[in-house]
Amino acid sequence: TTYFNNGTYLEKENMNVSIDDRGYYFGDGVYEVIRVYGGKLYTAEEHFTRFLQSAKKIRIDLPYSIQEFIQIAEKLASENEIQDGNVYIQVTRGVAPRMHNFPGEQIEPMITAYAIENLRPFTKLESGVAVKTVEDIRWLRCDIKSLNLLANVLAKQEAAEASCAEAVFVRDGIVTEGSSSNIFGVKDGILYTHPATNLILNGITRRVVLKSCALESIGVIEETFTLDELYKMDEVFLTSTTSEITPIISIDGREVGNGEPGRLTVRLQSVFEQTIKQLEQE
Ligand code: PLP
Repeated sequence: TTYFNNGTYLEKENMNVSIDDRGYYFGDGVYEVIRVYGGKLYTAEEHFTRFLQSAKKIRIDLPYSIQEFIQIAEKLASENEIQDGNVYIQVTRGVAPRMHNFPGEQIEPMITAYAIENLRPFTKLESGVAVKTVEDIRWLRCDIKSLNLLANVLAKQEAAEASCAEAVFVRDGIVTEGSSSNIFGVKDGILYTHPATNLILNGITRRVVLKSCALESIGVIEETFTLDELYKMDEVFLTSTTSEITPIISIDGREVGNGEPGRLTVRLQSVFEQTIKQLEQE
């Protein structure tokens, strides 16, 4: 397997992380996960646009353009013969003796990336998953795709221990997002999701869904809703790059609707499927 290491390509065995990497010390960096379908990158431009934006928000200057990042990701996917999988890429502020403030001008960002096979989650897409709600204890810049994922890790573990596939964050009674996904509800044929503020990551899959709704004339309200309102939705689903559009069939042990993937959810899944098929034809 070939990995990307600040401009060079190395075997995994030859990759190493410095003890002084600020990602290792502080989680001082940002990342992206891009899906590969049939050997092609899905919504790569959107992902790398967000990557540059995340880096900028934490004052890391990236040495590559969006197009150059796409080329790196494509090379990783093709050289490693990935048909269905993910490209993972991260940047840290770089390597320097430990101090909280930025070490100075001379520090160079550390960019690493790789491509890995990962089959689509067909069973979950078809059957749906159970989720557990947890208190959203994260910081107030959830719009940044930060390497700091401690609250997300703890939330997902809590969900896993309750045999749930995802943890759904609730802040002051308001449903924000999942620990690694965005959350949507359907009530009386209208789709609801948290607005793209500093309290959520504006998911690329979320944007694909909103675009599909516009094309299909499905009503969308990007406004906050409470946990109580979530429990009463007719349908609920989550979205992410790797989970696509996954139906949620139970929340905190309570059935959503009749406990099966909802009709609008299934319809949006099929629209999503078309966008993957289009990619194959490009
Ligand atoms: N929200 C959080 C906190 C995430 O970590 C992720 C993705 O991992 C998402 C939402 C979904 O974003 P995307 O659809 O771009 O994968």
